[in-house]
Amino acid sequence: FKVPTPVNEPVKSYAPGSPEREELQRTYKELKSKQLDVPMYIGGDRVYTDNKQPMVQPHDHRHILGHFSEGDASHVEQAINAALAAREMWSNMAWEHRASIFLKAAELLAGPWRARLNAATMLGQSKNAYQAEIDSACELIDFLRFNVQYATDIYRMQPESSPGVWNRMEHRPLEGFVFALTPFNFTAIAGNLPTSVALMGNVVVWKPAHTQVYAAHMIMELLQEAGLPDGVINLIYVDGPTTGDVVFSHADFAGIHFTGSTGVFQNIWKTIGNNIHKYKTYPRIVGETGGKDFIVAHRTAEAKQVATAITRGAFEFQGQKCSAASRAYIPSNLWDEVREYVIEDLKSFKMGPPEDFSNFINAVIDEKSFDKIARYIDNAKESNEAEVIAGGKTDKSKGYFIEPTVLLAHNPQYITMCEEIFGPVITLYVYDENNWEDTLELVNATSPYALTGAIFSKDRYAIEYATKKLSDAAGNFYINDKPTGAVVGQQPFGGARASGTNDKAGSMLNLLRWVSARSVKETL
Ligand code: GLU
Repeated sequence: FKVPTPVNEPVKSYAPGSPEREELQRTYKELKSKQLDVPMYIGGDRVYTDNKQPMVQPHDHRHILGHFSEGDASHVEQAINAALAAREMWSNMAWEHRASIFLKAAELLAGPWRARLNAATMLGQSKNAYQAEIDSACELIDFLRFNVQYATDIYRMQPESSPGVWNRMEHRPLEGFVFALTPFNFTAIAGNLPTSVALMGNVVVWKPAHTQVYAAHMIMELLQEAGLPDGVINLIYVDGPTTGDVVFSHADFAGIHFTGSTGVFQNIWKTIGNNIHKYKTYPRIVGETGGKDFIVAHRTAEAKQVATAITRGAFEFQGQKCSAASRAYIPSNLWDEVREYVIEDLKSFKMGPPEDFSNFINAVIDEKSFDKIARYIDNAKESNEAEVIAGGKTDKSKGYFIEPTVLLAHNPQYITMCEEIFGPVITLYVYDENNWEDTLELVNATSPYALTGAIFSKDRYAIEYATKKLSDAAGNFYINDKPTGAVVGQQPFGGARASGTNDKAGSMLNLLRWVSARSVKETL
């Protein structure tokens, strides 16, 4: 099975007057004016219930996008049964056939589905057009294509044979079903978590965040159009505790592919531990969780480059990325310049709904997030350990809008230097320019997370020293670049410590977790 070596899907610019911009604007308007009645998908059937939940536009919460059917425990059971019923067919299907389905999905997404999924991400998750393009088009297309390449490499990995003895490795799927639990913040992650598992021959029960149903529904329709057989991926909208009770006590539960909060992941891990005697096999637990991602500038860094990394790294998609820069350490010699550039740059960040392509900042996902983020900002306004140096206004009257906010901490352990906020807030701390080594210690010790981080310097020695010193502080480490925007095939993504199991999304390491190999020796 030979497939062309994948290249990253080029990012479209959506320049004013371009055909792609017109198509996206048209699709956005069309979807916005429709009221979708979204079903669950179980065994290939569309399943509707009477429990209809609204799909809210975060930037305009009075106007909804339609409703989705919420299910209960019986739907979780049905989804598991449908998955198990499809398992024999799917796991024994020629791998090339499985791969072809996902490659076709990538083609459809690169072509006729692109505008639709981008518009859904803009409407349902309040992403601007450029962030949507990077996420729901390019990154998801890349996941689908590169995973096929990595899987090809895995299946090709074979032990030595000799005349008279044929040794082989059969990279079998896991025995049971896998549960995919996906977050609101990336459509690409929603697409990748169930499909990467299914590509390796597994059957899946997929539950997206309730705030992501709109895009998840589109992905499912796209996969069906690409020829995904019934029951391989079953998409359900059931609340977390109800789903967890059924999934984690099932004898055929074989693994979880998760992206979400550290707290939820830790609870899941404990539940799986408590139920371990019930399972046929040890479940694979793969999760990407929180972050408190850093930028550290050395005294030799270029102030403008640092300032741009701060504003881009912290505020793209309203900071709702696990990778978002949320604490930055600035040497005293650069402070005045960095501060000026940051404030200047922020003046160009327009805020408003995504239908106006000139709005860079849109709304945060929902009221709960809004209130949590606003509490951190209020805390800084009242504290004498920190001050607001830019932004700080919040308004949820029409949509959940929070100005990009820059805090200055006088205490490096101030709460917003340590805790994940998941919103458009970054805290800066100014250190004595001669304290590089101590500052790196501080960076390493301040947070339990280790997802992403960036250092800025022109001094080779300082770069080498920091790279070693911070070896375990970030799974994705950037030298002279912002800590967000990992590209599939270029910077495999994931972190350790409280940030996850570090099974790098979109890489062979990840796919290897979804196979259970059998070594066969045949004497001829
Ligand atoms: N992969 C994304 C990035 O590098 C972040 C994913 C996430 O927020 O979970 O920015």
